[in-house]
Amino acid sequence: MIEIRNLTHKYISVNDHTTTAVDNMDISIKSGEFVVILGHNGSGKSTLSKHLNALLLPSEGQVLINSLNTSDESKLWDIRQQVGMVFQNPDNQIIATIVEEDVAFGPENLGIEPIKIRQRVDEALKMVDMYEFRDKAPHLLSGGQKQRIAIAGIIAMRPKCLVLDEPTAMLDPSGRKEVMETIVKLNKEEGLTIVHITHYMEEAVLADRVIVMEAGKVVLEGKPKDVFLEIETLKDLRLDVPPITELAVLLNKELPNISRDILTIDEMVNALCP
Ligand code: ADP
Ligand code: MG
Repeated sequence: MIEIRNLTHKYISVNDHTTTAVDNMDISIKSGEFVVILGHNGSGKSTLSKHLNALLLPSEGQVLINSLNTSDESKLWDIRQQVGMVFQNPDNQIIATIVEEDVAFGPENLGIEPIKIRQRVDEALKMVDMYEFRDKAPHLLSGGQKQRIAIAGIIAMRPKCLVLDEPTAMLDPSGRKEVMETIVKLNKEEGLTIVHITHYMEEAVLADRVIVMEAGKVVLEGKPKDVFLEIETLKDLRLDVPPITELAVLLNKELPNISRDILTIDEMVNALCP
């Protein structure tokens, strides 16, 4: 679904200072895959994500979305319809004063017939479990609920891929949990391809694949179990290791029958009390 080839992105500022935010990256993402991107602040995650629906264009290399090149201006509409973006602050993404009007905004702009808009809005609100809030004012909702409305607004445009740039960063733990459950459901039940950027290791654990970035490059990549075993590398990159994995690695030194690659509390309980 996504093919990133030798992608470099350079920002050039007024005084001709150049920042290479993405440095010769190669990434392929399959349709239906759930990929999490991790990395410290400034490692280039947001810059990379903006290439996925042509908000930014490559300084070098190319980005293909289902074989459509983001540099081909005539394909912009197609690409933006296939890849929906969700950002950190839900308040910046909600425009209408009623939830269902907000969700309808995208499909209205796509020129969809009113009766179909109605269907899409209802369906999208049900998918994010916010249907009963359809006639409420968004400002009365919690952060997690608002972020789910923002996601519904994107889903109503029927994208194939959802790119989420730290969508849980401004939420409290229960809001984060709601949003993650929604994202997992869209991936597992609707088959949406997910590219999720986060700082939270417990979110990364849910992915099929984790990509760790530093200074615009991929430094680690693999299944969560394998990536989180690289405790020293992750610490050098100023990233946290899931505490349960760190505990498993420590226990494994004394109790070799406890596996090192434990990611969740349930797995730890099973290992300790077989
Ligand atoms: P992340 O999302 O991982 O925090 P970013 O992609 O936002 O990283 O930033 C990567 C690098 O590019 C940083 O050094 C940042 O300062 C720089 N950068 C980001 N946006 C701009 C911009 N609009 N102009 C100039 N430099 C930028
Ligand atoms: Mg960012």
